[in-house]
Amino acid sequence: MAKGIFPVEKLQSIQTPFYYYDTELLRQTLQAIVSEARKHDGFVVHYAVKANANPKILRIIREAGLGADCVSGGEIEASVKAGFASNKIVYAGVGKSDWEINLGLEHDIFCFNVESIPELEVINELAAAKGKVARVAFRLNPNVGAHTHANITTGLAENKFGIAMRDMVSVIREAERLPNVKCVGLHFHIGSQILDMGDFEALCNRVNELQDELERHRIRVEHINVGGGLGIDYAHPNRVSIPDFKSYFDTYAKKLKLRNGQTLHFELGRAVVAQCGSLITRTLYIKEGATKKFAIVDAGFTDLIRPALYQAYHKIENITSEEPTEAYDVVGPICESTDVFAKQIDLNRTKRGDLLAIRSAGAYGEIMASQYNCRKLPLGYMSDEL
Ligand SMILES: *Cc1c(COP(=O)(O)O)cnc(C)c1O
Repeated sequence: MAKGIFPVEKLQSIQTPFYYYDTELLRQTLQAIVSEARKHDGFVVHYAVKANANPKILRIIREAGLGADCVSGGEIEASVKAGFASNKIVYAGVGKSDWEINLGLEHDIFCFNVESIPELEVINELAAAKGKVARVAFRLNPNVGAHTHANITTGLAENKFGIAMRDMVSVIREAERLPNVKCVGLHFHIGSQILDMGDFEALCNRVNELQDELERHRIRVEHINVGGGLGIDYAHPNRVSIPDFKSYFDTYAKKLKLRNGQTLHFELGRAVVAQCGSLITRTLYIKEGATKKFAIVDAGFTDLIRPALYQAYHKIENITSEEPTEAYDVVGPICESTDVFAKQIDLNRTKRGDLLAIRSAGAYGEIMASQYNCRKLPLGYMSDEL
């Protein structure tokens, strides 16, 4: 039974709301990633730190051998602190500031994923000042749509990310001209929460075309980085607790034609950490509205913003009630109408004091928390430390 996965008595004594991480599930998930990726020559997996930068989570992921994919200087610092080797750190982002680039240079990170020519010039200049040569990959916008929420597609021509494909050869030529940068790869990322392997296949086809074009210009890159984006099953966190990494890696192995000696890099975020985390919240009041019941809980969108930001679905369970189900709107205390976790969902009959688990919240949950309304940031607790 679902409630069985929660140590309810231990959770009862912790101040709500908080994140609860099932570290055993996280380790099993990492094991699945490592064993599936290992089946294919040259596959290298990084973890997209932006999904969850809790130091304990980062440490477990580092221990499994993944690299770190960062999108800010703060994430580079968090990764180094968690013990990631700097030659396993990659750094992407449309707006890298000088101190962030300098930080990457000081740590000799594996690669800067560059998103524009002006950025390339600044990296070259800052690297020159340090007497270094920065390894760069160009992030290309593959104009591949992903069948996911419009706010989380990134690989369409209209998005702000990446460099247009038609400029690929000229930006590589530009990098050859600059003495303090070296182009070592191509980088892509088409979006998030992608469950249709056809979307990744479309990316593979595009990468193959681009590599053919490079070949015509006698250009070779050491690595291809296809980003992340593999989705998870938000509806069935128990039944499908580990994403289908086999299909994911097999798709790339089958469809993407690597050149001799090339490595293929991945940057998985959500698929690594989403299912191991739940937001645990206490029911404050049951309010009988004119037409429906509200379960008013002590967590709000300051703790988990995905429902308010993306109309994201999270399964919610009452982990302290076995009574027959009733329909509720589950809402938070924040003074905004969007502070709603779910509408008209079935919960075991709920009363003041009951604990609810908002499931699949390990990715883009704790890390996106804010202090709006002067609220405290939620803490994260590990199952193996309770
Ligand atoms: C967000 C992001 C990822 C991770 O995306 P997921 O959907 O969480 O796997 C990977 N690479 C880049 C460049 C990103 O911006």
